[in-house]
Amino acid sequence: MTTGPSRVTSGPAKASERVEPWRVESAQVAAALETDPRAGLSATVAAQRLVEFGPNELVAKKQRPTWMLLLDQFTSPMILVLIAAAVITAVIGETKDTIVILAIVIFNGVIGFVQESRAEQAMDALMKMSSPDARVLRDGDVSLLPAALVVPGDVVLLEQGDIVTADMRLLEAPGLKINEAPLTGESEPVDKVTVALPEVGAATPADQRNMAFSGTAVTNGRALGVVVATGMSTAIGRIAELLQQGEDEATPLQKRLGQLGKWVAVAAVVICAVVFGLGVARGEPAEEMFLVAVSLAVAAIPEGLPAVVTISLALGARRMAARRALVRRLPAVETLGSVSVICTDKTGTLTENRMLVEHLWTPAGEYHIGGGGYAPEGSVEPSAEGDTLAVRAAHVAAACNDATLVPPDGGGEWAADRAGDWAITGDPTEGALLAFAAKLGVRQKEVAAYCPRVAEVSFDSERRRMTTVHERGDGALPIEEPNWVAVKGALESITPLLAGGQADVVEEARTVAERYAQGGYRVLALADAGIDTVPDEPADAEQGLSLVGIVAMADPPREAAAAAIAEARLAGITPVMITGDHRLTAVSIARRLGMLDETRESITGAELAEMDEGEFARRVAGIGVYARTNPEQKLNIIDAWRKQGAVVAMTGDGVNDAPALRKADIGVAMGITGTDVSKEAADMILQDDDFSTIVAAVEEGRRIYGNIRRFVRYLLTTNSAEIWVMVLAPFLGLPLPLIAIQILWINLVTDGAPALSLGVEPAHPRAMQQPPRDPSASILGGGLWQHAIWVGLLMAGIVLGLQAFSYHSGASEETWRTIVFTSLAFLQLSHALVVRSERESILTLGLRSNMVLLTVLVVTGVIQMALIYVPALQPIFETTALSAGELALVLLVTPVPFIAVEIEKWFRRRREARAEAVATA
Ligand code: ADP
Ligand code: MG
Repeated sequence: MTTGPSRVTSGPAKASERVEPWRVESAQVAAALETDPRAGLSATVAAQRLVEFGPNELVAKKQRPTWMLLLDQFTSPMILVLIAAAVITAVIGETKDTIVILAIVIFNGVIGFVQESRAEQAMDALMKMSSPDARVLRDGDVSLLPAALVVPGDVVLLEQGDIVTADMRLLEAPGLKINEAPLTGESEPVDKVTVALPEVGAATPADQRNMAFSGTAVTNGRALGVVVATGMSTAIGRIAELLQQGEDEATPLQKRLGQLGKWVAVAAVVICAVVFGLGVARGEPAEEMFLVAVSLAVAAIPEGLPAVVTISLALGARRMAARRALVRRLPAVETLGSVSVICTDKTGTLTENRMLVEHLWTPAGEYHIGGGGYAPEGSVEPSAEGDTLAVRAAHVAAACNDATLVPPDGGGEWAADRAGDWAITGDPTEGALLAFAAKLGVRQKEVAAYCPRVAEVSFDSERRRMTTVHERGDGALPIEEPNWVAVKGALESITPLLAGGQADVVEEARTVAERYAQGGYRVLALADAGIDTVPDEPADAEQGLSLVGIVAMADPPREAAAAAIAEARLAGITPVMITGDHRLTAVSIARRLGMLDETRESITGAELAEMDEGEFARRVAGIGVYARTNPEQKLNIIDAWRKQGAVVAMTGDGVNDAPALRKADIGVAMGITGTDVSKEAADMILQDDDFSTIVAAVEEGRRIYGNIRRFVRYLLTTNSAEIWVMVLAPFLGLPLPLIAIQILWINLVTDGAPALSLGVEPAHPRAMQQPPRDPSASILGGGLWQHAIWVGLLMAGIVLGLQAFSYHSGASEETWRTIVFTSLAFLQLSHALVVRSERESILTLGLRSNMVLLTVLVVTGVIQMALIYVPALQPIFETTALSAGELALVLLVTPVPFIAVEIEKWFRRRREARAEAVATA
């Protein structure tokens, strides 16, 4: 194994050549890597090593070179058919046709290439944005760096929920447990150590318990490690199979449209054979009929369908990112549009997560705490002087705490400059407790100095408490024993740990806690005890406690949340709150946000655990709030909703939330407060942790689906019109309506350009006023294929009518063909305009709400006129200048599809209004 140490170039590294880092003391590893475990590398050395060792990245599947992407555009069966046609026309001397066909092939290829590379770039950029960071010690300071910049010798900090970003030898590892499943397949977390393991071999990462490996997840505790290998030299980088992961999976829509494309292709080939046969039978030249049949096949086959889906989804993902929702998997963009239930955390997602302690209760008194934000100053009323329990409560708050207060810029922690706001690092609940303690005169740094922490059990959402053990120090604390235990957490989780004789106090505390919770406050109990010796297992210190106080902290609902919830409900989406907080707190916030009314109830995790599956399935639709839940219960909630046919989005931020995030249809992680583990398990990351961002993403998802459907609707209708024209003409005793080049032109230009512009259709006002679409419904459902057939027939009828009229009134072949060519092109432009909405009138939407389409229609129309009136172009398309009367005739019929489809929509709206009236009656 050639890891970092043996590869570090200069000086001392020589001595440790081929030393395996787990076999020796950590100090030796650090020395070999010329790094200081206290200060890390210097920026200069780190920069040199980045050049030497390369970025810390797994070189995932080989990037496709650009020319391959370009070549891909010309290898679809349909384009190959066209190229073959170009060759054949060249051989038989129809040079003009050859040039036009090749021009069309190239035009099509370039458009496809540009679109697809834009889509790829968009997805690459998104993946980069969601890749993890590392906390690295450089020049003595901790900085947050993109994982790619980590180099051998870096000293890295790990916390619960982190994904390890490189292989490292552990320097410190209090309580550290790591899940190494990605590497070893073992799903039980492994306890880590820091001692040397000289007897362990190189081939067994599972036994190298003083190492943390890239790609594994910290489930408990904290650590400091020195990086020994990065990128492809890590244990995981050497597992070849892993690099194949991340194959692009087709989304359900892509699969379905691929299937549809195949069916249409088969049908088209059959129809073309018929057209060819009929034409030859009627005495048309076989050569020409061959070209016509080939162009018709090309026109009829919707070869672009799956590609359009990819492009729309990828560009949609980019728009979602602009609205602060990072999508990590393309299929999620599609699923988002059909979400029908959003299960969301309360704290931080529905609320601001800017906590402020407003009340303190102790067995000796109750106080109102003034002040705002995290500033460590504010009034205490009435004065708590003389209440020793209040001082003890403040000590617990300051000591049993991993957050820090960050003063406004321009001074040390207690500097006089108070411009700007105080901030915190760490958990806002704990930040608020620090500010609270300071208001009672107890400062975190001072407590840490005279009561150093010796052991701890970190907070987890299942135990709902946190415990630290300290040396007593002297003076401040009224305890005899040499050590002091500080515990904070939910009152119910602390009462069982209290020493006897506090029944009355507990009774009163419970009443107080409920009163606070009812007001929407987040409530924490504070308790402590003196002990003689620090137990080996820190959790054993949690006994014989005295309750010293209850604090109530305000966490205001987010400004945008209430509106977003109303929007979700209007869109037929059920919002559900799942929280670890007290039921009364949860209910109070839910009421304020309009999530809970008389028709929905709240239950606790304990009640949920009591229910059997059948009962839960019956009640799930009526439950709006789950309080005091454990993370695993999220799985039951997803299951129960799924059985109702729901598509479930579920939020989560902790390590324990990962299974639920994976299981949900859309797992949503928090960009700010979320752990790496939750982000990696999620389909989408909210960069601002805000509930309303989920709703915005759903809206984008619906819009994208709508646009894909619009595109399909338009494309199938135009194809159907072209086929009807060519197939029906012989039956009406009419000569070949269009020649090959005209068909190709209509298919690729008059159809293609508007179809693409339909993809940028803005969200329609009613998109969020309809129930979510049924995920199992076909994209052709809701009358789409019927529309394609009847509108196609209508257009063909008009075109053939015009052909018959001018043909029978003795017009020249060029003239009636130009009339057919132009009228078909114009009818399709008119249809492109009306197909923008399946339901709303274009007059309500406004012509200018899709300017791209409008511009494309005008430009295409002008080009079409040029084909007729510019003498140089006439011979290419075999057109001729139409007389004013003939042109007027064409323009007269142009609005017909527009009007016909508007009438269809009007009927549809009336039908819906009636159904609604019946439903509400
Ligand atoms: P949520 O994120 O849904 O608000 P949490 O799991 O964070 O739920 O909190 C549940 C309960 O655990 C809180 O009501 C509080 O009593 C307790 N709690 C929360 N954070 C901490 C913490 N840092 N230390 C101790 N107890 C905590
Ligand atoms: Mg929380």
